[in-house]
Amino acid sequence: MPISIQKKSECTGCGACSNKCPQKCIIFKEDSCGFSYPKVNTLKCTDCGLCEKVCPLKNNMKSNNRIKAVYAGWSKEPELRISSTSGGVFSVLAYHVLEMGGLVSGAIYDSENTICHTIVSQKKDIVRLRQSKYAQSRINSVYTEIKRALKMQPVLFCGAPCQVAGLISFLGGHPKGLYIVDFICRGVNSPKAYREWLKELEEQQRAKATRVWFKYKEDGWKQSPRCTRIDFADGSKIVQKGMDNTFMCGYLGNNLYIRPSCGSCCFKGQERYGDLTVGDFLGVDPKYDDDKGTSLILINSEQGMDLFEQVKPNLFTVEREIGEISSGNVCFTDSVRINPKSEEFLKVIGKDMPFSEAIRKYTAVSFFTKIKRCLKRMMKLNKK
Ligand SMILES: Cc1cc2nc3c(=O)[nH]c(=O)nc-3n(C[C@H](O)[C@H](O)[C@H](O)COP(=O)(O)OP(=O)(O)OC[C@H]3O[C@@H](n4cnc5c(N)ncnc54)[C@H](O)[C@@H]3O)c2cc1C
Repeated sequence: MPISIQKKSECTGCGACSNKCPQKCIIFKEDSCGFSYPKVNTLKCTDCGLCEKVCPLKNNMKSNNRIKAVYAGWSKEPELRISSTSGGVFSVLAYHVLEMGGLVSGAIYDSENTICHTIVSQKKDIVRLRQSKYAQSRINSVYTEIKRALKMQPVLFCGAPCQVAGLISFLGGHPKGLYIVDFICRGVNSPKAYREWLKELEEQQRAKATRVWFKYKEDGWKQSPRCTRIDFADGSKIVQKGMDNTFMCGYLGNNLYIRPSCGSCCFKGQERYGDLTVGDFLGVDPKYDDDKGTSLILINSEQGMDLFEQVKPNLFTVEREIGEISSGNVCFTDSVRINPKSEEFLKVIGKDMPFSEAIRKYTAVSFFTKIKRCLKRMMKLNKK
């Protein structure tokens, strides 16, 4: 039987099945909410079963990597650090692998502003991979291209933990020469939500968006989740903050368009698939937080340790305790609770309601909730 998805929460969209298929008869198709799922061309399918065997969720995949060390750190290049989401550790690793004669794979915005994975070989292209993009990245045939490239040169792959699991499962293990970086992940959003948000801004501005910069650090790293910058082809730019930062409002505050599988993510906690895990070191000792971005770096394998030692001269680093992670970063261990109105929201946008209007409607706080919050605050004050 070819792969079939009974429950949407049981497919991460990692793309291992379509890359593995010898007949190339699996494509990923968006559903009405904008999430992609495998669709098999049964006329071409030979029923070999490889698509089912390679699926990390169906096979309850496990990793032997365990965290060996925890660091806080950032790039010594101020420009690189400010233009990265956290402390710029990804770019430092990427430059190093390119200098070794290798390739780097990560997520970019393509010419249509779609988020997808690609492979680059030149330093000037790392800027396209830099920064978190908050919708799910399409893998396309990148795992297959990595397999081919590894015969000749080292490769650094950076992606969400489910994509990393997909790559390892596709390759049938973790070959030497493949450096894997995953990140602590809050969940990936629907590409449809991202498209509808951007389309509305382009219509308002009457110009095509040329660059989206989530977690823009204009007001510092700690305020950056509330700040998104969008540049347009006519030279104009918008910086959305607070409640006007509609895309992040729906994501961070309300979990309105996170992929169903992220609600019960299997790739959390100390069992890591990447050689290294990066993230925001939220909750780090204030001595190591100058509000410009502090990366969390988890070393999970010998190969990860070797690579980290090689790039250390380009980073400020300080070793930390593992307990310091969970105090500020719940997504290290916990999945988010997906908004029960998520499906309704995703079906409504674009068709019946513009994105911003739908955000206002679906994130409005009811009178009852306001009273509940007020009472909670009063009880807290009384306790003090
Ligand atoms: C959807 C998402 C959710 C995240 N949630 C958390 C969280 O809850 N807690 C936390 O500590 N950190 C989270 N991160 C990670 C964090 O935002 C930084 O990406 C990470 O700390 C690396 O930062 P950096 O400064 O080293 O490099 P950056 O330059 O910011 O790193 C970018 C790297 O991430 C890859 N990337 C960017 N967007 C995507 C995407 N959509 N899919 C796959 N790969 C992508 C790029 O290819 C590049 O390799 C999340 C990232 C993403 C993309």
